[in-house]
Amino acid sequence: MRINLARLKRDLEELGCIGRTPQGGVSRPSFSDADMQARRWLVDRISAAGMVARVDAAGNIFGRWQSGSPVVLVGSHIDSVPNGGRFDGALGVLAVLECLRRVKEEGVRLRHPLELVAFTDEEGAFGGFFGSYAFTGVLRAEDIQQAKDSKGLRIVDAMARHGMDAMQAPAAYRDPKDIRAYVELHIEQGPVLEARQIPIGIVDAIVGIHRYGITFRGRADHAGPTPMPDRKDALLGASDLVLKGRELALKAGSPASRITVGVVQLKPGVANIVPAEAYLTYEIREQSAGLLRLLAEKSQALAADIARTWELEVFVETILQIDPVPLAEEVKAAIAAAAQEMGLQQLRMPAMAGHDAQVVGRVAPAGMIFVPSKDGRSHSPLEFTADEDVERGANVLLLALLKLAAE
Ligand SMILES: [Zn+2]
Repeated sequence: MRINLARLKRDLEELGCIGRTPQGGVSRPSFSDADMQARRWLVDRISAAGMVARVDAAGNIFGRWQSGSPVVLVGSHIDSVPNGGRFDGALGVLAVLECLRRVKEEGVRLRHPLELVAFTDEEGAFGGFFGSYAFTGVLRAEDIQQAKDSKGLRIVDAMARHGMDAMQAPAAYRDPKDIRAYVELHIEQGPVLEARQIPIGIVDAIVGIHRYGITFRGRADHAGPTPMPDRKDALLGASDLVLKGRELALKAGSPASRITVGVVQLKPGVANIVPAEAYLTYEIREQSAGLLRLLAEKSQALAADIARTWELEVFVETILQIDPVPLAEEVKAAIAAAAQEMGLQQLRMPAMAGHDAQVVGRVAPAGMIFVPSKDGRSHSPLEFTADEDVERGANVLLLALLKLAAE
């Protein structure tokens, strides 16, 4: 059995027209008008395929045609970052839709029903993973009350605009016993598969992320009269940490380790004043929990060392700590067998970005299939995956689902 590429492409093109930007990307942040239009479109497509569509209390969309439990849950998300690409998330959801249509057309009897899911706010307009957190029972009332977008719009108000009560979202909880496995097809969003000309990536683990806010504090002095040796320049500390953090990732990390400073803010931020304060965000990503912890400890020691060297004070605040999530061996095995059956080369690799699979993967066996991203571009209108890669990925998904649903 194989998927119908023409039909899948038509869906990708239609969904790619919703929230289209002049640059050729899409803007569909969760609960925006474009996202709501995309949701209505998806529900229509599920119904048109002869399946039952359902929206839960968190706005997650489901589609299935067989009743029963436990299910093999398959999906991704249809929201996007502002001016993002047409494949991120959308490919996963539409590939499942196509797989379900094919299974239904062929009248294949499965031991476990297949169920499509499109999770709410994966991309984080309101913080991220709202739908999968609710679904897995980790969304708390205070998280909902506090969730806001970058303009300060509360998710409570954003959902109310569309007649939904955000405070009811925890009712979306589903007993993990009802989930046989969760599978997500996604674009790689990085350059590895394309560079190595390997069509299928099997995700080993989803990286953990530690994010810190680090402030170096020195002294504001006049840029003219204050001699170079007498300064307490906070930016020197920050700059030193940027360079030494990079070295740390390269020397003490694994090939999957990343250390990134994405924000630097100076006070007073005036051309003729030595910076008194430098604030930076310092983010570490790594797939091994032990190594992630080690890199975090070394980074903190590094910041303290650097502060001493430049005669500064340093303050470290923790912004985010997400542990890595290893994916399930049985799901990886099903994907590997599917790729092998199609004669496709495959690569075990970590996922370096966040995905709903890391949330569902904490309560049920989860797996992810990656397909190549042209030039590794993502979260951009330049995001692109070639037809043959879309087709291969969707077919590997189909065969893997059949295996998981039959066991
Ligand atoms: Zn995504």
